[in-house]
Amino acid sequence: MTETREAPTETSSVFSKMSFHNHQKVLFCNDRHTGLKAIIAIHDTTLGPAIGGTRMWSYRNEDEALADVLRLSRGMTYKAAISGTNLGGGSAVIIGDSRLEKTEVLLRRYARFVNNMNGEFIAGEDVGTNPRDMEYIHMETKHVVGIPEALGGSGDPTPISAYGVYMGMKASARELWGNDNLAGKAVVVQGVGHVGEALVKLLTKENAKVYVTDLNEERLIAVSRIYGAKPMANNHVYDLDLDIYAPCALGSTLNTETISRLKCAIVAGSANNQLENEDVHGKMLMDKGILYAPDFLINAGGLINVYSEIAGYNKNRALQLTEKIYDVTREIFKKSGRDKISTHEAACSIAKQRIEDIKKIKAFY
Ligand code: NAD
Repeated sequence: MTETREAPTETSSVFSKMSFHNHQKVLFCNDRHTGLKAIIAIHDTTLGPAIGGTRMWSYRNEDEALADVLRLSRGMTYKAAISGTNLGGGSAVIIGDSRLEKTEVLLRRYARFVNNMNGEFIAGEDVGTNPRDMEYIHMETKHVVGIPEALGGSGDPTPISAYGVYMGMKASARELWGNDNLAGKAVVVQGVGHVGEALVKLLTKENAKVYVTDLNEERLIAVSRIYGAKPMANNHVYDLDLDIYAPCALGSTLNTETISRLKCAIVAGSANNQLENEDVHGKMLMDKGILYAPDFLINAGGLINVYSEIAGYNKNRALQLTEKIYDVTREIFKKSGRDKISTHEAACSIAKQRIEDIKKIKAFY
């Protein structure tokens, strides 16, 4: 994903921002009646229709919203490609405070825009939206995933997301220590929300030494009590002598400041966009000898799960496909060692190669 051209600035035109990473399409959606202001970005549809979350967030301005949707949609292209699905990458953002401004009518108006794209974009949930919102969207379009099982959907994706992270963590352990047994390994899970808690459950079952941290004190205490995990202060995470750091809260926790403090051997977690700057910080981890399991691969269990709604397979098949994250993680480590590039770069390169290969076969009838 390394680019040599100059990065677009806030004042660059929409076209130059789109051209920088080769986005195919950006749709601006505006509706005075409902107050909807949304942006849908399609990054790449070589492998199939673009799938992506619907994020509702109080962006400070349109530039910030556009930057986010472009970044998210590109990330989805690589995630969909590396996890072996026949899907492209897209994303949508709705500008507004989800706690105050999200209404049925706003979501259904957004869904009409999605529907008019005739399947080029498939909407899912993201920060600020939930399965109930997907039900509203489903009232206006069939191009939505993450609806409840009762409506023919795939239900809660979080246990499968956590399982994928666990697979990536085990593959990392095998790479570093020669076997993938996590018993006795000291692991800190930062953020014990939906995915973090499910990961803690898997780790404690394997007798790992689990530490937990969360900004939400109540949640921290509850999860540590249920699983016997040791609670700790969030700002200590980067200074402790641990085996594995699992970021499962927000992105950008791997930056110049935190990497210089980190003492762990492995980073493997569910959070999206863990590297603050993917060109700089992937390499910085490598130079420090910390093995990084690329986030967009190991957290793809949720995507694989919702893909079952499109591809028509069942939960067991979704689990089997998620298990493959283990092998792909190992393949990435091999490529990283062989080509002397960061694991993040290796993962991007494998994803890009798949897209390029499939592009070639699509040139024929
Ligand atoms: P969640 O909101 O249920 O949990 C996040 C938890 O992190 C919350 O308990 C929150 O209090 C805590 N938190 C927030 N900021 C923190 C900080 N700075 N330090 C410590 N704790 C903090 O979210 P989730 O669904 O569990 O997802 C967690 C991460 O994994 C997100 O980055 C998400 O984008 C990513 N992810 C989730 C899925 C999925 O299936 N839900 C799939 C792929 C990726």
